[in-house]
Amino acid sequence: MDQGLTDALAYGSGYLGQGKVADYIPALAGAPADHLGICVLTRDGEFHCRGHWDQMFTMQSISKALLLIYALLELGHEKVFSRVGVEPTGDSFNSIVKLETKGHHPLNPFINAGAIATMGLILEEGRTFVQFMEFLEGLARRPLTIDETVYRSEKETGDLNRSLAYFMKSDQVIQGDVEATLDAYFRMCSILVNTRDLARFGMILANDGQDPLTGEPILSAYYATLVKTLMVTCGMYDSSGEFAIKVGMPAKSGVGGGILALVQGKAGLGVYSPALDEKGNSLCGIKTLEYLSQALDLHYFKGNQ
Ligand code: GLU
Repeated sequence: MDQGLTDALAYGSGYLGQGKVADYIPALAGAPADHLGICVLTRDGEFHCRGHWDQMFTMQSISKALLLIYALLELGHEKVFSRVGVEPTGDSFNSIVKLETKGHHPLNPFINAGAIATMGLILEEGRTFVQFMEFLEGLARRPLTIDETVYRSEKETGDLNRSLAYFMKSDQVIQGDVEATLDAYFRMCSILVNTRDLARFGMILANDGQDPLTGEPILSAYYATLVKTLMVTCGMYDSSGEFAIKVGMPAKSGVGGGILALVQGKAGLGVYSPALDEKGNSLCGIKTLEYLSQALDLHYFKGNQ
């Protein structure tokens, strides 16, 4: 593991300088494009970390996987999937197109529309953003904070997300207050984590929903499978197919440059490098995972897992 990780980081570092930091949220534009870090938590509770693994960054879309877990636990899958579907879109994460052409419900909870609709449902059902944050802190086993600058920046400039939300309100996909829903969504995207936190979240899913340290059940194996399957089909935006072929790990990325990934039964992984490819995924992060997957035989359809 340790040599593979060192080699993977060296390989991924070879791509630094390529890709582009997200700047459609102005406060993200200053992220350190030359940073790359990785952390792996193995089933025995050991963390293996390299590079800028402890750099804090905003979760952005990675939070959508955690919001889905929270929604499933609080409301059950029937209620959640009465609002959002489980199909990949093939479109970019913030596209509005299929809301009009494929029915009113967002196709999955990992596109912006789907996560905003899920957040709307959470609030309608009497849960609060603070409760979601407390849930996350329980998973992370430490207090978490929000990057207020990123939050305000996205709130000020998030007109496309605002459009998605009002569009869904007009179709009753969102039934509560749109601005409150968006506010909670922007806050969620601005939660600060490092790769070690992501590795922990990943290991809980890899461990079929049980806390790897205490054995405490956090979510059922069924819900863990459901979330992991959606990570495979929809977790890496509209390059989920290519990522599945080349890396073969359930994963969820965010435009902050983080990727949460996992190897079933074995490990949770967090990678960070803020320069993105044209689909919005961390470019060096993917290269690092690609190398690691091949070097250690971690693809879900290879090896003797
Ligand atoms: N906060 C970002 C947005 O709504 C999340 C997008 C992402 O990470 O894919 O645009």
